[in-house]
Amino acid sequence: MPDAPSEFRYKRVLLKVSGEVLMGDQGYGIDMATVAEVAQAVAEVAREGVEICLVIGGGNIFRGLSKAAGDMDRASADYMGMLATVMNALAMQAALEKIGVQTRVQSALVMNAVAEPYVRRRALRHLEKGRVVIFAAGVGAPFFTTDSGAALRAAEMGCDALLKGTSVDGVYTADPKKDPTATRYDELTYHDVLARDLKVMDASAVALMRDSGIPIVVFSIREKGSFRRTLRGEGAFTVIHNAKTA
Ligand code: UDP
Repeated sequence: MPDAPSEFRYKRVLLKVSGEVLMGDQGYGIDMATVAEVAQAVAEVAREGVEICLVIGGGNIFRGLSKAAGDMDRASADYMGMLATVMNALAMQAALEKIGVQTRVQSALVMNAVAEPYVRRRALRHLEKGRVVIFAAGVGAPFFTTDSGAALRAAEMGCDALLKGTSVDGVYTADPKKDPTATRYDELTYHDVLARDLKVMDASAVALMRDSGIPIVVFSIREKGSFRRTLRGEGAFTVIHNAKTA
């Protein structure tokens, strides 16, 4: 595996993509054209030597706290949500392998016929060999989300950054889709995010990244080339870390 070229800020990263991103312009489910675009963005940097972990949400199919769950008990609904993340992970694996990127799916819920069980040291070995590792089923427990799963795996894998790929190019003072005067933050501290309850990631995920000293980088995955640019410190994004540079 070649060393990550120095123009990249990070050698090993975890990319969290929410389920909503994968549904593209559809209202529900998996849009394979969008999955292919994300796979292309991942492949581009993986080929240049950046080690990549992926966590895909499940909100495009099922969310424990959604209306679709009706009055089902929360834990059962959450397990369904975790299964949705496994479907997304398999779709992403198929898209990556189609373009020649070796990929392994590790699931926090044991499902031997479709994915490896999560084994930390094995996942580390895959990364060292240049394989993209997709972590499915979040933390494997209800009452959590894939944001927490992403933070946990980023810490366990010793990632240099957690990148959150959304449909907006960073964290704004207000919702830019609703408020045209909203401006983007270049950087924030973990404390800013938690104290002001900014909707970036779950508080538990932000707290874990703070305690592990891993920066969170929020960027738009829907723009072509943006993942690579963000990893090089170029383009628009928001970094959340301990101390502001300015
Ligand atoms: N989920 C869970 N535990 C986890 C990860 C996910 O219970 O560790 C369930 C939860 O119901 C969640 C759903 O799976 O709503 C889908 O994940 P998430 O909402 O994080 O997806 P995203 O918003 O990223 O698409």
